[in-house]
Amino acid sequence: MIIGIDDTDSRSGMCTTYLCAVLVDELEQGGYGTLSIPRLVRLNPCIPFKTRGNGAVSFAIRIAAGREREVKELVKARVQELAELHDEETNPGVVFIDEAAVHAISKGVSGEEKGAMQKLKNFYESAVRDVLSIEAAYSLSSELNIDCFGLKNKRGLIGALAAASFLVVQQADPSRYDFTYELMVYREQERWGTPRVIDEASVWHADEATYPSTWDTVDWANKKLVLAPHSPCPVLFGIRGCRVDALYHAYKLIRAEPAEREMLFITNQGTDVHLIAGVQGRLQDYHSYVLDGSVDSMPRTIEGGHVVFALSLSDWASDRIECIAYEPTKGFRDHIRKLRKGDEVTVYGSFKRGTINLEKIAVRQLNVEVRKNPRCEHCGKRMESAGRGQGYRCKRCKTYRADKEVVIVARELEEGLYEVPPVARRHIAKPLIRMCMDGEIDHLHPSR
Ligand SMILES: [Zn+2]
Repeated sequence: MIIGIDDTDSRSGMCTTYLCAVLVDELEQGGYGTLSIPRLVRLNPCIPFKTRGNGAVSFAIRIAAGREREVKELVKARVQELAELHDEETNPGVVFIDEAAVHAISKGVSGEEKGAMQKLKNFYESAVRDVLSIEAAYSLSSELNIDCFGLKNKRGLIGALAAASFLVVQQADPSRYDFTYELMVYREQERWGTPRVIDEASVWHADEATYPSTWDTVDWANKKLVLAPHSPCPVLFGIRGCRVDALYHAYKLIRAEPAEREMLFITNQGTDVHLIAGVQGRLQDYHSYVLDGSVDSMPRTIEGGHVVFALSLSDWASDRIECIAYEPTKGFRDHIRKLRKGDEVTVYGSFKRGTINLEKIAVRQLNVEVRKNPRCEHCGKRMESAGRGQGYRCKRCKTYRADKEVVIVARELEEGLYEVPPVARRHIAKPLIRMCMDGEIDHLHPSR
């Protein structure tokens, strides 16, 4: 059976990954069956209603004979008990895809069954890239005979079904989606809401010992730890990376308050799966894109320290959008400020009200030309315009030239890819260090 859960937390407490860890441990220790590594699935990061990281979870369990009903009851009971039901914004959802349904979806060869896999795949991808309705979750669940359980308005069913879909697809085809790992470490219950005790020096050391197999543990440029949340939730910290041994090695090196438990997750974090490339047609709010264009205004710093510039999109001659690097992106703004009109760039980020919120930028071609009034060949002074479209003249020497002079200027900015620093990175965004390791592109400027 595959179980997906979402929306049990609130800004003031709980964490859906913790509920998942409790359940996985309890089901395992109670001999209910054999469990998979759970999945932590980040959904569309710019969706208007979300709790903190917009993450949902799922896991597979091969249930011991005759205990299916007990497992479902236990999951429902824990969700009811641990979810932050008093919070208006918390609307839990759980889906159960039983063995027979998983088998039909995964191993099927008939057109209809292939269709089921495709539908789950589409549902997961839409949950990451689009805005889905609860009705879409209901309708797909009933079509595929998936058992649902929800509380309050049950909006969590969207994420629960998406997380379960991710796991179904990944089990059938492990190379289908890029993935990374996060080792989550949880606090003892009596410490929830109190300041976290983590020895900073040990974290810097752990990072040094395991980077780049782990990332976003610390932010070197901003001298901050980024592994621990600041909310009163049960998470002590999480270590993100691409190698399980490196995650546990880092964990061993970190000195901190005693942990209640830890849980390893396979996750779509750090993969850029939210980005839509090669889009045709209109850009939609709450979607994230990769867009080619040309810088169409000098970048300027606005109130609050945000840096903005206009971009004319290559694919639609008429479209011009704004791009913004918010103040919390810190040093990333320095690269943006060095852009000039005419620079060819590719921007990565989410779109809202005509503006792309920059996560990464590829500076593809710098505009190194400056057009200036020509110099007079006699006296060497800059000539004046003789009127619109009339060329240039030197009044004193009575000389004339038709065109501006093109001067090649040195640029402070280098071509290549730039990213926001770890302190400002979305869970789902792919760090450049991962691209370096994949050898995807040259000229990367990782933020450390
Ligand atoms: Zn002159």
